[in-house]
Amino acid sequence: MKKSFDREIIDYGHRKFRDDEFWKEIPAWKNVTEAEFGDHMWQQKNTVRSFEQVKEILGSRLTDRVAKDLEEGLRKTPMNIRITPYVFSLINWEDAENDPLRKQFLPLGTQFLEDHPFYMEDSLAEDTDSPVPTLTHRYPDKVLFLPVSVCPVYCLYCTRSRMVGGSTEGREKTVRGNKENWPQVFEYIKNKDQVEDVVISGGDASMLSPSQLKEIGETLLDIDHVRRIRIATKAVSIFPQKFISDEKWMDALIGLKQKAKSLGKMIMVHTHFSSPNEITIWSKRAMDRLFAADIPVRNQAVLQTGVNNDPNTMIRLTRQLGYMNLQPYYVFVHDMVPGCEHLRTTLREALEIEKAVRGTTGGYHMPTFVCDLPGGGGKRHIASFEYYDEENGISVWKAPNVKPGEVFMYFDPIWKLSKEAQKRWADETTRNQMLEDAKKKVLS
Ligand SMILES: *Cc1c(COP(=O)(O)O)cnc(C)c1O
Ligand code: SF4
Repeated sequence: MKKSFDREIIDYGHRKFRDDEFWKEIPAWKNVTEAEFGDHMWQQKNTVRSFEQVKEILGSRLTDRVAKDLEEGLRKTPMNIRITPYVFSLINWEDAENDPLRKQFLPLGTQFLEDHPFYMEDSLAEDTDSPVPTLTHRYPDKVLFLPVSVCPVYCLYCTRSRMVGGSTEGREKTVRGNKENWPQVFEYIKNKDQVEDVVISGGDASMLSPSQLKEIGETLLDIDHVRRIRIATKAVSIFPQKFISDEKWMDALIGLKQKAKSLGKMIMVHTHFSSPNEITIWSKRAMDRLFAADIPVRNQAVLQTGVNNDPNTMIRLTRQLGYMNLQPYYVFVHDMVPGCEHLRTTLREALEIEKAVRGTTGGYHMPTFVCDLPGGGGKRHIASFEYYDEENGISVWKAPNVKPGEVFMYFDPIWKLSKEAQKRWADETTRNQMLEDAKKKVLS
C-alpha cells in the first residue's frame, strides 16, 4: 500500500515564503517602497488604530457590509484595535469574514457569541499568584514578569485583555507595568533562590526600549540563581521589521545574548504565530537574523476556530515554523476569556488535531498541546485530564505540582455541543448538578 505521505503530507508548500509586494494592494500604500515597508519606524507610524483609519486606508476595498459589522464589533470587544500595516495588508479584504488574520485582530459584530457562564476576566488567576505587582510566581522554579502592558498589535483573544492595551468603550483598564514596580520585582527574584527561569512578557517585550531591555536583562543575568531568560514577543510574527531594521533594539538583544553566554546562561525569544498566513519572506528574514545571532526562538500558538482548527493548517504551520528554524513549542487550547466564545474549540478538537500533527515532522518540532487551566492550575497536556464528559463539554483536571489536592475544570464552548446538552447548560440547576457529578468522578 502506498504510504499516505507520498500523497498528502509532503506538498512542500511550507518551503515557499510569500515574497510579493502584497501591501501595494492596499489603496493607501500602493506607492510604498519595499525599503519603507521594511522599516520598523514606518510600520509603527502607520499602525492602524481606529475604525476611521481602516476606512481611510482601504477606501473602496472595504464593503459597506464589512464596515458596518466592524463598527458593531468594535463596540463589543474588550480589546482596542492596533494592527501593523504588515498584518493589515496580509488580510484578504475580499473575504474579510473568513480571513484567519482578520479573525484574530479585528472583531465583527455578527461573530460575537455570549460569553460562557464560567468565563473569567483573569482566567489564569495570574493576579492571585502574584507576590508583587507585575510578577506571577506559580511554578516552583520559574516566574512570569509583565514589565509592560502594550503590544505592537492587539489580539482579540488576549488572555490578559483585562489589563493589556488600554480602556475601550466597554471596559475600563488600569495600565500596569510601569517602571516603579521593577525594583520590587528584582528584589523578589533575588531573594528566591529557587527561581532559575524568568519569562519577560507583557504586553509584549518588543515594546521595551533598548535601554529598558538591557536593564531588565542585565539585572536578571547578574542574579546567580537565574539561569534562563525568555523574552516573549509576538513581533516576530506580526512585526518582523523590528528584527530586520531596529538596530538599537537588536544590539541590546545581542548584547544580552553575549553576556548570558559568557556566564553560561541561556537567552531565548518566545513568539506567537497562530496561522501560516502570518508567515512571509519577512518572517524568514527576521528568523535568519535571530538565527545568525544564535538566539533560539520558540513558538506558542493558540488553537482557534476558523484560524487553525484543522489538521492541514496546523501541519503546515508546524512544518513551516520548523523550516525557518523556529521551534514549535506549545499549542494552547483557547483560554476562557471574554469576547472569545466564537474562537474557542472543544478539547476533543484539540485531541484530534494533536494526533494528526504528531509524526509529520521531527519530534523536537512537535508542539505540546496544552490547556492552561482556568483558576491557576497551570499548563497541562491536553490528554492528561482526569475525566472528560464530552457530551456536556466538561473536563476535570489536577495540577499536583502547582496546587496539590485541588481540582480544576475546563469547559468546551456551549455552541459546539448537542442541542440537548445546550438545553442542560441553559438550566442553572441542571448545570450545577453536571459540574458536581463531574467533580465527584475525580474526587471519589
Ligand atoms: C506559562 C507560564 C510560565 C512558563 O511556563 P512554561 O511551561 O515553562 O513555558 C511561567 N509562569 C507562568 C505564570 C506561566 O503562565
Ligand atoms: S501580543 Fe500577547 S499580550 Fe499582546 S494582545 Fe496579543 S496575546 Fe495579548
